[in-house]
Amino acid sequence: MKTDIVLNYLKLNNIEYYKNASIKSYLTIEIGGKVNSIIIIKKKQELVNLLKIFEDANKYYIILGGGSNVVFSDFSPELFVIINKIDDIELIGNNKIKVSTGTSNKVLLDWCKENGYCGLEFLAGIPGTIGGAAAVNAGAYGRSMSDVVIDSEVYYSNEGVQFIDNSGFKFEYRNSVFKYGINVILDLRLAVKKCSKEKMSSLIHDILIKRGTAHSIYKMKTAGCFFKNPIIDGKKISAGKIIEQSGLKGEKFSNIMVSDYHSNFIINTNNANFKDVQNIEKSIINKTYEATGIKLKREVIYVLSTGEKI
Ligand SMILES: Cc1cc2nc3c(=O)[nH]c(=O)nc-3n(C[C@H](O)[C@H](O)[C@H](O)COP(=O)(O)OP(=O)(O)OC[C@H]3O[C@@H](n4cnc5c(N)ncnc54)[C@H](O)[C@@H]3O)c2cc1C
Repeated sequence: MKTDIVLNYLKLNNIEYYKNASIKSYLTIEIGGKVNSIIIIKKKQELVNLLKIFEDANKYYIILGGGSNVVFSDFSPELFVIINKIDDIELIGNNKIKVSTGTSNKVLLDWCKENGYCGLEFLAGIPGTIGGAAAVNAGAYGRSMSDVVIDSEVYYSNEGVQFIDNSGFKFEYRNSVFKYGINVILDLRLAVKKCSKEKMSSLIHDILIKRGTAHSIYKMKTAGCFFKNPIIDGKKISAGKIIEQSGLKGEKFSNIMVSDYHSNFIINTNNANFKDVQNIEKSIINKTYEATGIKLKREVIYVLSTGEKI
């Protein structure tokens, strides 16, 4: 009955949705099974209305951007998944842009190149949306979203729309209050700096070269770095190096493997499921601990059938 309220709203507003559909093709690692419905949202007001309806109807839901940092469980019959496709970019001051959170990093960087704004080049080669990037505090080469977020409009469960500033994100290394939470970032105001188009193009080019994004690993089924780089005595150590030193580089499990290019990437090689990922995670944590005494912690998010993120 309560599910009807959701579906009626979607039908009445001509919102694209897929009932009883597999989430797999929305995730870069392609691991996850059927969910109740996948809803494609393109307008901010529709997203806000829908979140309110989910709350009133007591439904499990989760928002995704590019699905490039998550693995889903194999069957989530009660879970509604919102795919955020709201993508506007607006210059709102000399050094400030307002971006809707469904905007892909690629589209945002193309806009920055076209309009001559620097500062976000560290996002080059990181898949996904700017909303997902803010939620997980994505970054590379010493810069991350915490350095550029000024403030944001957010939908708080049971409270509605509110503004928060950078401190409201409680940013940490690859983490914010949104990574494991239910609240939704609607848009972001980001700090940028005026520069020439050529300058921004060359900054992006240099980062893509450094990352080696032309390598085939970037086309494989993966969710990026699987483990966080541990911090030992105040120094960040590469999780990939620890995995490599433990002899696990290229290690094959039944349907999944440790990349032989970048040891912190786990590759879905043959229709892997949630159990396969959990098994490889456990095995890597145990073997690296035995070899180095360092306990690795997962960076990739697991989404359970209730939408709980762990
Ligand atoms: C090949 C490859 C390379 C990568 N390289 C990097 C890298 O260099 N650095 C790095 O940090 N990461 C990297 N990643 C991981 C990933 O791409 C980033 O973390 C990315 O920023 C996630 O964005 P997304 O839109 O895909 O988020 P999703 O995977 O869709 O979601 C991630 C989390 O954010 C939440 N979320 C998404 N949108 C919102 C929103 N609007 N409001 C609230 N919560 C939201 C989701 O619920 C989930 O908890 C890489 C991944 C791949 C596959």
